[in-house]
Amino acid sequence: MINRHYDDYLDTELDSTVINCIERNGRYYCEFEDTVFYFESGGQRGDRGTINGLQVLELIREDGHLWHVLPEKVSGICHMSVDPLFRLKQAEIHTASHLMCSLINKRFNARTVAFYNDGQEAYAEMGFEYLDDATVRKIEDICNDFIQKDVPVEIAYPRREDVREYFTEAKLDHEILRTVRIEPIDYDMCGCVHVPSLRYLRMMKITHYEKTTRGYKLFYLVGTRLKEMLEKYYNELHELSVNLSVPFDEIASAVEKLQKQLHRAQQEKTQYMEYYVDSVAQRYIDSDEKVIFGQFDFDSKTLNRLATMIINNSSKLVFLISDLGEKMHLIVARSRDLKVNCNRLFRELADEYGLRGGGNPAFAQGGGLNDPGLLFKLTLRYGSIDPEKE
Ligand SMILES: [Zn+2]
Repeated sequence: MINRHYDDYLDTELDSTVINCIERNGRYYCEFEDTVFYFESGGQRGDRGTINGLQVLELIREDGHLWHVLPEKVSGICHMSVDPLFRLKQAEIHTASHLMCSLINKRFNARTVAFYNDGQEAYAEMGFEYLDDATVRKIEDICNDFIQKDVPVEIAYPRREDVREYFTEAKLDHEILRTVRIEPIDYDMCGCVHVPSLRYLRMMKITHYEKTTRGYKLFYLVGTRLKEMLEKYYNELHELSVNLSVPFDEIASAVEKLQKQLHRAQQEKTQYMEYYVDSVAQRYIDSDEKVIFGQFDFDSKTLNRLATMIINNSSKLVFLISDLGEKMHLIVARSRDLKVNCNRLFRELADEYGLRGGGNPAFAQGGGLNDPGLLFKLTLRYGSIDPEKE
């Protein structure tokens, strides 16, 4: 739908009269004599903004109606106000797509397959059979050359007979024809909002590209959005640079060095834990106690190692708990020469404390929610158990 307000991206304020306002599920669908809001089409997102200070929740095109969805009912003459920054970013991204896609169509022999712009991320999917870094840099350089030359983006409403030689019948099949000309790179039909000339784009950056089944997606940033992302990334890099105490260009090597140090530290921690568990196990093995109660903050795998070492090298019944914060892991295990049924003991505790798990008469284990007093309760309950008896 052609709307002359879209000819000027700065045309963002308008007073217009309500001609229809209906309620649907607590939201008000309002139609106006005229609108300055852009409704999503042609790969360009709909505008954001307010009407009489109320946030426009959605813009819906439906059976010839242009619904401005509002949280409250409005009537009479209302003031429309489009978010100018969002409008500008949309116009920049869209105008850049004309430039980049037409350039690729004409000079790199790849057709436009699809276009995407959600206001944050934008890409053009182009029918390249093959694409490499050098070609992408070349496309980017040529786009930026056009931007520097400040080529005008001209909107016109030509008569059908004057443009018949430039367009297919399908493209001419509209009541009103609206053309966009960026000489010499692009001349096309389009109803979207554009910036007046390429200088407004300031700079364009193809950030990356990826292979698809239909060609390649070229992701790009331009103008205001490019500046926003540059600031965001620069701040992130600055914070990293300060935290790592290195200049920007040494961040990658500093992170690599840290990763190596972390890997070494993890290896040392594993060795230390093994040594620690060995010494704890030996202490229990050497003790005169027949029944062992212990609580630790290491994981269930390490707890298994500890229990196995104790029961394989002495004659003991062990109750070992891993305190894992909100959760815990419990092992009830005994040496082979003893007779007490560990699985029965575990099941008693599992029912009482809501634990999952199980095992066999010599070794049972499982986990559940942590009970900070469990070790003490186990000591009271099983402190005088005779592990020689079933
Ligand atoms: Zn356009």
